[in-house]
Amino acid sequence: MSDAADFARSIEDLHDSAGRITRGLETVVAAIDSLADDNAQFIKDPDSIPDGKEGEAIHSLLAGIRKQIADVVDHGRSFENKLETYSTEITTLTRQLEQTKKAAMLDPITGIGNRRRFEESLKDILNRLTDFNEKVSVLLADVDKFKKVNDSLGHAVGDQVLRLVASNFVTNLKGGDVVARWGGDEFAAILPNAGLDDATSVAETVRNSIGSRSLKNKDTGETMGKVTLSIGVSTYRQGDNPHKLIFRADQALYEAKRKGRNRTEQELD
Ligand code: GH3
Ligand code: MG
Repeated sequence: MSDAADFARSIEDLHDSAGRITRGLETVVAAIDSLADDNAQFIKDPDSIPDGKEGEAIHSLLAGIRKQIADVVDHGRSFENKLETYSTEITTLTRQLEQTKKAAMLDPITGIGNRRRFEESLKDILNRLTDFNEKVSVLLADVDKFKKVNDSLGHAVGDQVLRLVASNFVTNLKGGDVVARWGGDEFAAILPNAGLDDATSVAETVRNSIGSRSLKNKDTGETMGKVTLSIGVSTYRQGDNPHKLIFRADQALYEAKRKGRNRTEQELD
């Protein structure tokens, strides 16, 4: 649980405790009043003090206690109200904080995670590996000649292409996989439980799926050519860290570009 949620819970607990104390003390005041009504009218009414010093002493002692407790009850009630207000405010702020945190991990154009989300996920996934035989692979994909799309069809179509790539990844990945926009026209994916060959075959599925679609001008229906991807694949090796794993996928991506684009390349041995 987050620190803010812990704090909110503590305030709620305090609020509950204040409520219990106030109600407890109210009971004591009521008990003193009923004692006064039933047996010792003198507590409330000084004129009814029985003869002798004891009665006077008991009267002033009980009246004093009653007043002190009644004051505490009053303070307790206003303290309780304040705590209730704080508790509501903290709950609202905690919710807003969670939403802001989530938004800070998302790419606004495609709606998938951003680079920060990717890096945190990869760190978590690698930290959770318990056995060096476990597999994790990374894909790094870059749209081919994307500048041309922007230049010839405009930025809005460029953004649409980015959404198309993102949705293709989402469709072709499994539940535990992670895809994010790495930045610009680059996308990154984490495939837990996939070795180099399995990850390469997922990369090829995504690449073929995107490459099989033609861009169309929505207004004229005119076909504007295809979007293709170059993809680099790396897989976890003992002693790896996120940086090394991404670096090898990036080298493989570079190789895919160098060999002519619209292809998937695996990391070097
Ligand atoms: P290459 O095949 O070598 O990758 O060629 P390229 O033209 O795709 O080159 P590069 O990957 O360097 O170009 C990335 C381009 O992505 C440059 C920039 O105009 C464009 N871009 C970056 N962010 C956005 C965005 O949010 N929306 C759009 N429409 N374009 C973007
Ligand atoms: Mg590119």
